[in-house]
Amino acid sequence: MDKIYLDHNATTPVAPEVLHIVTSVLQDQMGNPSSVHSMGRSARVLIDEAREQVASLIGASPSEIVFTSGGTEANNLALLGVALGMGKSGGHIVTSQVEHPSVLNPCKQLESLGFVVDRLKVDKLGRIDLQALENCLTEATLLVSLQHANSETGVLQDIVKIGEIARKKKVLFHTDAIQSVGKIPVRVQDLPVDMLSISAHKLNGPKGVGALYLRKGSPDLFSPVCGGSQEKKRRGGTENVAGIAGFSKACELAQKHIVSQKSSGLSSLRDHFYQLVSNLISGMEIFGDLENRLPNTLDLGFEGVEGDTLLISLDMAGVAVSTGSACSSGSGLPSPVLTAMGIPFDKINSSIRFSFGWSNTTAEIEKAAKILAQTVSLNRTGTAMEGSKKINETPLKFNRYKIY
Ligand SMILES: *Cc1c(COP(=O)(O)O)cnc(C)c1O
Repeated sequence: MDKIYLDHNATTPVAPEVLHIVTSVLQDQMGNPSSVHSMGRSARVLIDEAREQVASLIGASPSEIVFTSGGTEANNLALLGVALGMGKSGGHIVTSQVEHPSVLNPCKQLESLGFVVDRLKVDKLGRIDLQALENCLTEATLLVSLQHANSETGVLQDIVKIGEIARKKKVLFHTDAIQSVGKIPVRVQDLPVDMLSISAHKLNGPKGVGALYLRKGSPDLFSPVCGGSQEKKRRGGTENVAGIAGFSKACELAQKHIVSQKSSGLSSLRDHFYQLVSNLISGMEIFGDLENRLPNTLDLGFEGVEGDTLLISLDMAGVAVSTGSACSSGSGLPSPVLTAMGIPFDKINSSIRFSFGWSNTTAEIEKAAKILAQTVSLNRTGTAMEGSKKINETPLKFNRYKIY
C-alpha cells in the first residue's frame, strides 16, 4: 500500500535532484574544505557555491549565511549567541508561548544563567499582540525572538511590524522562519530582521543541516559550538559538505517553485482537501488565523474523537499525519501552542495536523479525504463497525507524538 504523506511540517522527502548531489559529493568529493590541496579546495568551492544559493533564496548576501547542523542549532546560535555575546546576566529577552522547543529551551537555559525572559501570549487565532510586544521592551532588552510561521497551526506572525517595533527600540530581532522559507517568499531585504533560521529538511533537503542568516553589521555572537575557524569562527567543526551541497540544491528548487507560483498549488491542494472533508465530516473545526497562514497547513479538530486514536487509525489506513495535541517533552501535556490560543482541552485532544507538500497529488488528497471521513466516522460510532471495535477495545497507550 502506498503511503500518503501529509506531515510535511515534520519533515519533507528529499528531492531526487538533492539525493543525486548528496550521493555524488559523498562519493567524489572527499576533501576537507580546510585543506590546502586541490581536493580540499574543490570541497571549499562547493560550500562557497552553496552559500551563494542559500543566500539567494532569502535575498541575503553570502557572507551573511552561517551553516549549522540544522534549525535547532541555528536557533540556539541566535539566542545563546546574542545573549552570551553581548549580554550581561540580567539582560532581557522577549519570545512567545508558541515558539518551537529549539527557541524555548535555550531561553530556559538563559533564565537559569540569570537572564530575564518574557514569553508573549497569543490571541485565539494564534497571533501575537503587537502592543504587548511594544510595552514589554525595556532598556535591558537584548533580543526579540518570534517565529515567522507556526509548525502546528501554520499561523504567520507579522514579522514586518514586529521588526519595526524592535528597530524603533534598537533591539535585535531574530525570527525562526524554518516553516516559511521554501513555502512562501521570504526576502530579508524587505524584512526588518537581524537574524533568521532555516532548516534544509523542511524544504526537501537532507536532515542535519541548516543556516542562520546574520545581517551584516550585527554584533559578534558567542559560539555555542566552537572549535576550528570554520564559518568565521561562528560555528566550529568540519563542514557537512554533502549536506550543505544538498541544502543548496533544495534552495534552488524551492526558489523555482516560488517564482513559478507553485505555492498557490500547495494552497489549492489544502483548500481542495478542506472542501472535501468539510462536506463529508460534521463537527469539524479549524484552528488558527484563516488569513495569515502558510499555504500547506491545516490543524483540524474533530468533535468526539481522540486525536491520538485517529492518528493511529489513519496510519493503519496508510495516511501519515501528526496530532495537534503533540507534546515535545513527552510529558503528556496538551499542545502548548493550542493551549496558548485558549482552545479547551477536549478540542486540543481531538486535533490533527495535515501538512501538504510539493509532491502530493490531487488523487492522494481525494483518497486521504475519504479515508479521513471513514476513520472519523468509525471512531465516533464506537462498536457499530468491526474496525472501530478493535480500536476501542485496545486502549492505545503511548507517548504523545512529537511535533517537529
Ligand atoms: C523543524 C523546526 C525546527 C527544528 O529544526 P531541525 O532542523 O529539525 O533542528 C525549529 N523550528 C521550527 C518552527 C521547526 O518547524
